[in-house]
Amino acid sequence: MTELTFLGTGNFEAQGRYWNSFVLDSTVLVEPSPTAMPHLRRCGLRAGDIEVVVISHFHADHVFGWPFFLLDAALAGGGRTLHVVGPPGVARYLEEMNELGGIGNVGEFALGELDLRFMEVDGSWQDAGPLRFKAVEVVHVPHLRCFGYLMEWAGQVIGYSGDTTPCAGLTELASGSDVLVLECNGSHPGSPLPVTHMDEASVRVLRSQHRDLPLILTHLGADVDASGIEGVIVPDDFDRLTV
Ligand SMILES: [Zn+2]
Ligand SMILES: [Zn+2]
Repeated sequence: MTELTFLGTGNFEAQGRYWNSFVLDSTVLVEPSPTAMPHLRRCGLRAGDIEVVVISHFHADHVFGWPFFLLDAALAGGGRTLHVVGPPGVARYLEEMNELGGIGNVGEFALGELDLRFMEVDGSWQDAGPLRFKAVEVVHVPHLRCFGYLMEWAGQVIGYSGDTTPCAGLTELASGSDVLVLECNGSHPGSPLPVTHMDEASVRVLRSQHRDLPLILTHLGADVDASGIEGVIVPDDFDRLTV
C-alpha cells in the first residue's frame, strides 16, 4: 500500500487548485511545483524526509518550487543523500534556476549539506535510492522533452503521465501501471493553440482501452468535469489516497 499526498492538483493556470505535485509515502516528491514546499509543511511532511525528487519536464508549473525545497532540504541536510531525477540537462537547469533566483549561495550551501545526486533519465529501468523507475517519453510540446514515469514502489507500479497528449508513450505507461496518475488539463474549444494536453474525451478513450486500470486525475483545469467518467478518482489539493 502506498499513500499518495496531493500537494496540488491544478494546471498552469491554477484556478481554484494549486499546481500539480504529489508525494509517495513521505519519501518521493513528484514535481517540485511552485507551492510544493509550503504544501509539504501544510500536509505534515518534511523536506528532510524526501529522498527522491522526480521531474517530468521543465515547464514552470512543475519545477519552479525547486529553490524553496532545496533550502529546506539543505537546512535538514546532515550529509544525507538526495536523488533528483529528471530530463537530460536537469542538473544544469536547476543550477541556472538558482542563479536566476539570486540564490547561487543556497546552491553552494546545499552542496555542503547534502549528497546531491542528479540522474538524467535514459528510458531504461533505473535506480535512485529507494526508487526504481522507468521514464517514458511522451508528446506534450515540441520545444521540450517530456517524460512520464513508471515507479516501482511498495510492491506495485505507480504510473505518472507527466504532461502529455494521447501518444505511444502514454499507452506504454497505462499498460505498465497498476495505478496511473494522469493529467487532465482540459481543452480550450475554439482555441487557435495546438492541443498539448489530455481532456475529458481523451481520458474516456484511455479509460475504454484500459478498463481495469485505476486512474487518478491531476493537473486539472478549472473547467474539467470528469464526473461522468467511470472509475476515475479526482483528488482535491491536500487529499491523501491509499493505493
Ligand atoms: Zn503542466
Ligand atoms: Zn507542461
